[in-house]
Amino acid sequence: MGAGKTTELQRFAERATIAKRKCLMIKYSEDTRYTTDAVVQTHAKRRYDGETVACTKLAEISDRVAEYDLLAIDEGQFFGDLNSFCREQADGGMDIVVAALDGNFKREGFEQVNLLYAACESVEKLSAICVLCGDEASFTHRNISDQQEVLIGGMDLYQPVCRSCYCEKVTATNRARVDAILAKYDGTGRE
Ligand SMILES: [Zn+2]
Repeated sequence: MGAGKTTELQRFAERATIAKRKCLMIKYSEDTRYTTDAVVQTHAKRRYDGETVACTKLAEISDRVAEYDLLAIDEGQFFGDLNSFCREQADGGMDIVVAALDGNFKREGFEQVNLLYAACESVEKLSAICVLCGDEASFTHRNISDQQEVLIGGMDLYQPVCRSCYCEKVTATNRARVDAILAKYDGTGRE
């Protein structure tokens, strides 16, 4: 998280729109962090003004996507039918770009996203900046003990961390020190 996935997706959709391609942005409808009617880049709150639809299952909108040239799916890991929907649409000639986390805060793969790896043309893995040391961050730390996989939240719940800080964080001996640093971090970079 914090790697700019939504920003990258919006940029892709905006460029497609400039190229006169009809683009539909698809967001997960239970993801209401900043707005319910548009995809908003989580941290900088950058708004996307193109056509947007929200749903909880992609199958709900399958009969209305045919008029578009490109589907841009945000937070793909939340959709239980991401893999089947994308395969079916892409095989039918649709261009699809998916922004998604590939793994959860336990570094376990999100199944729907992992299944899609085998059926897509390319993958770009973005990295964030580790909130603890400033290195490249490829993992996510969740700062509460609830173990359910899907718990929607921003920097209040999740922080991007690098490999060594992730390993340090999950080592009990360093927990107090790291918790103190994270407690000062409010998601805006301010302390
Ligand atoms: Zn780090």
